[in-house]
Amino acid sequence: MALTTRATRALGAVAAVTLAGAALAACGTEHMMRSAGATASAPSVRAAAPASPSALSSAPTAPSAPSAPSSAPTAPSGTPGAARTPAGTARHDAAPGTGRRPAPGHRTASPRGTAAHGTAVQAPARGTVVTARSIQHGVEAPGRSVALTFDDGPDPVWTPKVLDVLARHHAKATFCEIGPNARAHPDLVRRITAAGHRLCDHSVHHDEAQSRKSEEYNRHEILDAQSEISRAAGSGDTSLWYYRAPGGDFSPSIRAIAAGHGLRPLGWTVDSDDWRRPGVDAILATVNSELKPGAIVLMHDGGGDRSQTVRALETLLDRLDTAGYTYTFPQR
Ligand SMILES: [Zn+2]
Repeated sequence: MALTTRATRALGAVAAVTLAGAALAACGTEHMMRSAGATASAPSVRAAAPASPSALSSAPTAPSAPSAPSSAPTAPSGTPGAARTPAGTARHDAAPGTGRRPAPGHRTASPRGTAAHGTAVQAPARGTVVTARSIQHGVEAPGRSVALTFDDGPDPVWTPKVLDVLARHHAKATFCEIGPNARAHPDLVRRITAAGHRLCDHSVHHDEAQSRKSEEYNRHEILDAQSEISRAAGSGDTSLWYYRAPGGDFSPSIRAIAAGHGLRPLGWTVDSDDWRRPGVDAILATVNSELKPGAIVLMHDGGGDRSQTVRALETLLDRLDTAGYTYTFPQR
């Protein structure tokens, strides 16, 4: 899959395959590296606007919304810069650890019930609207903004370092936490929320084959983690707004469970691939090649040694600051 993407770039990057909702990237855990050989059928891929070779230095331009397939329902509108996601972007039955770089043009059949719901999703007050079930790939702030997301923490070593970097740059981010990690480190969860960041449920066990499991199993994965994170954050916290399935392994049922409990299914549009620890320069190159205004960037503050992530983040934020980006959150 990676070769496909690189080949695409080498050919001139006609279309940056923003792996949006393809949401195939696995998150963080090392076992995926061992199972990455399989090639499951690729999920749908949203072909994005032509890539800018230097997204961080180009003039501000709002990304154009890609054309949705004719069969796809229209995603909620109203936020410039929000990437639109056709229905059926959820990986329904792919093997874990596969398909990080889906081949452009491949599309699996849209599972039943994946229609995006047209309910308001732009920063509503909690409890006032029905949370949409479609996978969110848009951000709240229009224009030259980016939403940073960090998965698999909180981690007592790396999360504080990520928070320090963010603070130096006055950057806000969203932290997709593993329930037991939050329970083990409530101090970190509260430090995150106290700094104005948001929280995202990232399940209990980080099972990247969640979509193959029973509804009961998934309810526990999603809701038990929600409880653990909420408890760690403390009563009255209102920063837990999203659910990101491990490995992006969403199914209609998983999305329904999450949305039914106020958690917007959350995807990404830029996969830093930091979990592979390819080196700081490689992480930065990957982000730079895919990033554009309105991006949701996937990185990791847990799941292993994140020293490369921390160093890459420092440079990335320097560049984003210089390029005039602001930091926002994914739309709910
Ligand atoms: Zn993850």
